[in-house]
Amino acid sequence: MRILVLSDIHANFAALEAVIAHTRDRWDELWCLGDIVGYGPRPNECVDLIRAEASLCVPGNHDRAVLDNNTSRQFNDMAREAIDWTRAELTTGNSAYLESLLPEPVPVDSLDLLATHASPRDPVFEYMDGIDTALANWRRPEFAAKFCLVGHTHLPDIFRLRVAQVDPDDADRREARVERMRARPGTPVNLQPELNHRVILNPGSVGQPRDKNKRASFALLVQDGPELIWHYERTDYPIELTQTQMQQAGLPRILIDRLSYGW
Ligand code: ZN
Repeated sequence: MRILVLSDIHANFAALEAVIAHTRDRWDELWCLGDIVGYGPRPNECVDLIRAEASLCVPGNHDRAVLDNNTSRQFNDMAREAIDWTRAELTTGNSAYLESLLPEPVPVDSLDLLATHASPRDPVFEYMDGIDTALANWRRPEFAAKFCLVGHTHLPDIFRLRVAQVDPDDADRREARVERMRARPGTPVNLQPELNHRVILNPGSVGQPRDKNKRASFALLVQDGPELIWHYERTDYPIELTQTQMQQAGLPRILIDRLSYGW
C-alpha cells in the first residue's frame, strides 16, 4: 500500500498539480490532512481534485473558517480577507463537501495510525510545533495509536517518543525520550512498526511552505509487508502562475510575495 500524504494545499492548484504529476504511478491512495482552501487563488479546482481522489480527508482551520464566521474572526486580517474571498468563490457542492468533513482525528487501525489536521487533542487548531506539545498529546487517552499524521504548521517534521530502559539490570527503570528529527527530502525514514515507540509525522505544506524552501512539500507513506516507510519529498511548481492568479483575484500582496520565499 502506497499513500500520498498531502496537507495545507491552500488553494494553490499549480502546486497541487505539480505534486500529482511528480508522484504519478507511485501511490494507490491519497490522504489529505486539511486546509484545502484559504490564502490561494484556486479553491474550487483543489476541492474538486481532493473530492475525486482522496480516500481520507480531515478539515483544517481554513476549511472550517469558510463555513463559519466565528472561526474566521480569529484569523489575522490577511487570512480573513482570503477566507471571505474564498467563501464567495466556492461552489455550493464544494462548500457542502467541506462541511461534510468531520473535525475529528481519523483512525486507521490497519496501520495503528491517527490522521488529523492539527493535533489529536485539538484536531483543528493546535500547532504541533514542539516537543512539549507532542508529549502533552501522547499523554492523552484518546491518542493511543503508534503513528500520527498532522499538518497545520506547514513544516515537515518528525517527533519520536521512545521508552528506554535506563538501567541494564532493572527492566522497570525506564525513561521517556523524545526527539525531533529534521526531515530531509529524499532520505526515507523507516518507521519500524515492530519497535516500542511512537511517531508523529508532518509532510509539510503543498501550497504555502514555511520552512524557507519554496518548493511544494509532501510525503509518501509506503507499507511493504512488515515495513512502513516515510518518504518526504519536495518538488518545484510554477510559483509565478499561482502569484498571477492571486493578483487577478485581488488577494493580499504579502500572501502573494511569501510564496517566493517559502515562509
Ligand atoms: Zn494551513
